[in-house]
Amino acid sequence: MEINYNHSGQLLPFMLDEGIARGRIVRITDSSFSKEQLQTYPAIALKYLSQLICLGASLMGDIKNSGSMTLQITGGQYISLIVAEIHQDGTFRSCARISDENLKKLEETNLSFQELFNGGQFVVTSKLEEFNEEHQAIIEIHGETLESCLQHYFVQSCQIPTIIKVISKIDPKLPTKDYISSMLFIQKLPHKENHNLNLDIDDLWNTYKIFIDTLLPEEMLNTQISDPSILYRLFNQHIVHVFPEKKLQMRCNCSQERIEQIILNLEKDIMKDEPEKKSLSVDCNFCQKKYTVDLKKLFNNIST
Ligand SMILES: [Zn+2]
Repeated sequence: MEINYNHSGQLLPFMLDEGIARGRIVRITDSSFSKEQLQTYPAIALKYLSQLICLGASLMGDIKNSGSMTLQITGGQYISLIVAEIHQDGTFRSCARISDENLKKLEETNLSFQELFNGGQFVVTSKLEEFNEEHQAIIEIHGETLESCLQHYFVQSCQIPTIIKVISKIDPKLPTKDYISSMLFIQKLPHKENHNLNLDIDDLWNTYKIFIDTLLPEEMLNTQISDPSILYRLFNQHIVHVFPEKKLQMRCNCSQERIEQIILNLEKDIMKDEPEKKSLSVDCNFCQKKYTVDLKKLFNNIST
């Protein structure tokens, strides 16, 4: 099956053995990023951004109501911010902030996850717009990979056995025909007293783990191998229920109005620092779209 470059990726939700575990396969292409991002971000930043997008999409999963999920790590020694924002409709955007000095270092040296983010703060925020609700989870920077961080969080803080396998390959010669990141995510569901399979649940869970371990990077990143065929390869001895696939699409929701609202919120600082300033150029951090804001008009409109 040839890859469709009109979308940035897809998510396939599934259920194993009638409710023993639920899972998702998320796979994304390099069209998850803008041209500018592909040109300016070092490969390692693209790698972690693409993994945050996959994780966010996995966690967003089957939330029915409108909402969004933001995953961000701030205060890392070499990358001061990486953030991915995923919406319930499958759209997402992401960005990184790296100083010029660190940009050079990141291109020259291969740093581990701990070296990059140790001392930083990893926060996952979920918003349910309909109920105007917001939840935040602070996740300890733990282990050698982003997925081990999340796995540790689910097991230690939420007591939910979770397996996350993620493979990324950011080719310096982008664009590539392969997926750039691919994730398999499964979580054990609370044990149902009357579930009708006469099987040992812990045994089943261990079997899933063993099979997931056999998943090869070449399989996960190959766009010729479909998500259902990966599930079939891993779980053909089990009952697999597959839900409708969800398309993922990079799209920034910035607009002149939103940018002006941000400036209005900062009004005092701008006017205090440069009272004579007539207009302001603002680049969106996510999509690099350029905006010009007529400050005089903006503030006059508000004061009248
Ligand atoms: Zn934007």
